[in-house]
Amino acid sequence: MTDDPIIKFDKVVKRFGDLTVLNKLDFQVAKGEKVSIIGPSGSGKSTVLRILMTLENIDDGVVTVAGEPLWHEPEPDGLKPASEAHLRKMRAQLGMVFQQFNLFPHMTVLRNITEAPTKVLGLSKQDARLRAEELLELVGLADQAQKYPHQLSGGQQQRVGIARALAMRPNVLLFDEPTSALDPELVGEVLNVIGMLAEEHDLTMLLVTHEMRFAREISDRVCFFDRGKIREQGTPEELFTDPSEDRTREFLKAVL
Ligand code: ADP
Ligand code: MG
Repeated sequence: MTDDPIIKFDKVVKRFGDLTVLNKLDFQVAKGEKVSIIGPSGSGKSTVLRILMTLENIDDGVVTVAGEPLWHEPEPDGLKPASEAHLRKMRAQLGMVFQQFNLFPHMTVLRNITEAPTKVLGLSKQDARLRAEELLELVGLADQAQKYPHQLSGGQQQRVGIARALAMRPNVLLFDEPTSALDPELVGEVLNVIGMLAEEHDLTMLLVTHEMRFAREISDRVCFFDRGKIREQGTPEELFTDPSEDRTREFLKAVL
């Protein structure tokens, strides 16, 4: 882990109509850092991840990824709105695992994983296939390559989702409540894979989760979001055993 932030939100404002979802959010993640975001529903957690994936634009402030503005491009006398090419380049540094898996239903597991590396990175079919097979091995699904998503359990589908995100070799992996849609008995297999990835020194991870025990185990830092701001943050030890804000204590009491 180095001190250079790989992700930086600088006074970021995001509104949906009259609703201000992010209210001058300042937030940084260092390279290699594993950060969990917890907080009540509607507090803007998913919005943070969606902005990073360029699925949502911002209304004010600056987001930088690896030192470069995400939503803007430098021009001689300042910044201009980012072009599609710039967004594509920036997005390629990040991978996201969604709550609802978001696999392509009409594609096999293998094709779900090879699609973006061939289309976006220009990998040959053969190379993409080798990469996919390695990743399926890693997530324990080597024998499921030819199945379709509906033939798999939710836990297996989510492990495919993780393999698919990794296939783009991202520097940063974003997880948006990756186990919330799963039956309880399938949560463990997905957390095991995420836990294994958390041991990778270079991989930066940003995880929105309600799995407090897991967040505590794997995170370097935990951020408590409340109404579009970070209300409190610290090491898992600090935040879970000795929170300083009443709001954090209330939240933890309700979920733990
Ligand atoms: P969280 O992930 O913390 O539950 P979100 O980031 O998904 O919260 O949403 C924050 C707020 O923004 C919520 O009130 C939500 O209803 C609202 N919101 C999110 N996306 C949209 C959208 N596309 N249009 C309008 N409102 C939205
Ligand atoms: Mg959410």
